[in-house]
Amino acid sequence: MKFATKVIHAGIEPDPSTGAVMTPIFQTSTYAQAAPGDHKGYEYARTQNPTRSTLEKNLAALENGVDAICFGSGLAAQDAVTKLLQAGDEIVAVNDLYGGSYRQMVRVYGPWGLKSRFVDLYTAENLEQEIGPDTKLIWIETPTNPMLNIVDIEAICTIARKHGILTCVDNTFASPYLQNPLDLGADIVLHSATKYIGGHSDVVHGCLVVKDPALAERLHFIQNASGAVPGPMDCFLVLRGIKTLHLRVQRACENAEIIARHLAQHPKVAKVFWPGFENHPNHAIAKKQMRMFGGMVSFDLKENTLENATKVLSSTHLFTLAESLGGVESLIGHPASMTHASIPREARLKVGLTDSLIRLSIGVEDVTDLIADLDAALELV
Ligand SMILES: *Cc1c(COP(=O)(O)O)cnc(C)c1O
Repeated sequence: MKFATKVIHAGIEPDPSTGAVMTPIFQTSTYAQAAPGDHKGYEYARTQNPTRSTLEKNLAALENGVDAICFGSGLAAQDAVTKLLQAGDEIVAVNDLYGGSYRQMVRVYGPWGLKSRFVDLYTAENLEQEIGPDTKLIWIETPTNPMLNIVDIEAICTIARKHGILTCVDNTFASPYLQNPLDLGADIVLHSATKYIGGHSDVVHGCLVVKDPALAERLHFIQNASGAVPGPMDCFLVLRGIKTLHLRVQRACENAEIIARHLAQHPKVAKVFWPGFENHPNHAIAKKQMRMFGGMVSFDLKENTLENATKVLSSTHLFTLAESLGGVESLIGHPASMTHASIPREARLKVGLTDSLIRLSIGVEDVTDLIADLDAALELV
């Protein structure tokens, strides 16, 4: 099955009891048994729920995995991956990471004795010298948030595998339509389905996809034992969103390209971050591992004061000032005070995340309206 067919059909059958074409929302906490242990594969809804199982089958197909495990949020999915490790183990992560992922590693698992280090992996060979005896997990995000750096998934996974270390790729920014890390050697793919997969800014949800059945079993065990499961209504919303994933991401990428090129020649703009530019440092790798360059664009102002950034951020009408990304509507955000406020300022500045950096999540609106909205706001600086 090709991608556009998978989003509609993979793992999805009409409901056997009624013929309902759309997967029902099985809003139940428990299931009747005919005799002790004699059930239809469902015992208790923390462990299994048919709406969730259908979504898991679909997500596994979208990422070319064997199984998926769904969670109440992207960070709950990360939490389950971390529980594969033990005190004393170390995570080596890319240094331009989603703020919440960084916070969980450092502030929740740090005190438990888990070590984490954040390093430049944009040259994949750097990983060799970063791996120590306690390194048990490599954590990468690509494109990164919000600098839109690109990590070479295949090269990183090759090095990690040589050392017998698991690699987890946070694929939230790309979505499965653009990039499939399991095909490039990753062991685990993570999505905040809150973003592109859900796509309508109406649900918080996360998932993991794996290609090794034994690893899937361990993660299902952790999910059931720790309990961070999504509700059936949320699973339904994600399933519904997925049906148009390819159409939404395709249009968002097309719009993002037009906007990135427009901003690049705008007199008020100093620098635009978008992996589709031929002079982006890792453009060649982006081209190799992604089908298109994504719907995210960040930019910095020529007069790069916080005051000017605030003017732009508060003056757009179609771009809503809000956290999050990946919905059908365009959003504008200020990473330094919003998504990345939990990262110390020096650490932010080190990766180029200035106080005047603005991040756009490009939606599927008419692109000429979006450009007019940005131009009007930039007029004010
Ligand atoms: C939003 C996000 C997360 C966290 O997901 P939640 O669903 O908000 O818990 C993780 N990684 C990336 C890249 C994100 O954008």
